[in-house]
Amino acid sequence: MSRYVLLISVIILYSTSHAMGSSDDNEIELDKHHNYKDMTQILKAVNKKCPDITRLYSIGKSVQGRALLVLVISDKPDVHEKGEPEFKYVGNMHGNEVVGRELLLNLVQYMCNEYKKGNDTIKYLVNNVRIHVLVSMNPDGYEQAYNTPFPKDYMTGRANVRGVDLNRNFPDFSQIECSTEDSNHLALNRDYAREAVEGLILEPETKAVFEWIMEIPFVISANLHGGDLVANYPYDNTCNGKTREYHECPDDKTFRYIALSYSQNNPAMASSTGCDRSDHFHYGTTNGAEWYSVRGGMQDFNYLASNCMEITLELSCQKFPPPQNLPYYWRMNKNSLLTYIEQVTCGVKGFVNDSSTGAGIPYSRIEVRDIDHYIITAADGDYWRILAPGTYDIRVTSQGYDDSPYKQVTVPDCTAGSAIRLDFLLNQQSKKEIKDELGTMRAILRSLENED
Ligand SMILES: [Zn+2]
Repeated sequence: MSRYVLLISVIILYSTSHAMGSSDDNEIELDKHHNYKDMTQILKAVNKKCPDITRLYSIGKSVQGRALLVLVISDKPDVHEKGEPEFKYVGNMHGNEVVGRELLLNLVQYMCNEYKKGNDTIKYLVNNVRIHVLVSMNPDGYEQAYNTPFPKDYMTGRANVRGVDLNRNFPDFSQIECSTEDSNHLALNRDYAREAVEGLILEPETKAVFEWIMEIPFVISANLHGGDLVANYPYDNTCNGKTREYHECPDDKTFRYIALSYSQNNPAMASSTGCDRSDHFHYGTTNGAEWYSVRGGMQDFNYLASNCMEITLELSCQKFPPPQNLPYYWRMNKNSLLTYIEQVTCGVKGFVNDSSTGAGIPYSRIEVRDIDHYIITAADGDYWRILAPGTYDIRVTSQGYDDSPYKQVTVPDCTAGSAIRLDFLLNQQSKKEIKDELGTMRAILRSLENED
């Protein structure tokens, strides 16, 4: 069992007139909205059509018992391949924000079809990334919104059926970051973990995604929303109680870079000034806290609790647009969705191994000088450090080993597969066992559940 498992099993801008128009063979089933039954059928059909590169699995169930289905696309979809990065898209967390859901359903069909046709871009991504797609994180909320007549109400179906906003329901590590300025794997610290979950009731949808984040060594992710048009990056939360103020995270430069990779490839988003034209977005991107402060959001949770760098995408001014607009959204987002996956093949990657045994060393810290945020190696000592173009000094520290010297590396502009390979061999300090601190969050969650 992996140690990750141990740890958690703790744009009205261009509306109808632009939306109508010719469809191409990329728009596979964008003529309607897909309810839970339709969505499930499509996912099963893709899995059947491309069995070698897809796997359908469930990470849990919604309050009303709908499976939270993930379609994974990769050359070896069943396993984490040593050295291959893990990527995720999460759609429809707010049940009435549906453009992302339809785009992801189209994306998985497109990737399956194009792989079969031999499309080089798609083949590269399938062969070199493991892509997990959770089309709907809030299927119950979606059904509520789906069953409401047009024009849709602004709020119906946003929350889960118990009325909880899932993007405010994650353990809030941001307050700890505010007081300590520590942003490093806070879920591994027993005191921090307890503080973040104290009094918090995790909804089943949140809990499922939370465990998924901790189980799989995700590197990059995006959370797809609607109601505005912007790529939003951490932090989402202000420290001083202000409703809006830029809150820079240690990886600010890199987050701005990957957020731009999405916005710049989406013509509508690139020029977006926000749907109410009152926000000052920068080429279609914004720091979350500068836009408006959110506590308990999924984006900050990813960054503060795991290796995963997540941004939040607002894809449409209309949360639940009429179906005839869907092809337009696909055309705006197709290149962005693919370019964003490509980001996971950039930066720096490699392996950390024991110099005497040659074995990979999990849980080693990849540290970048002047960026106070480390990532940790996966089970085989493999790692991926996403970085904006530039020159960096990187070293590795690991319990029981001597620190490696810093190695300098220059990261080029991101193109598919441009990651710089940088391996480290560490010398053992002693034979003492690395203390297994994991399982902490699960133990704390259990103890809190027992107190109820
Ligand atoms: Zn939303």
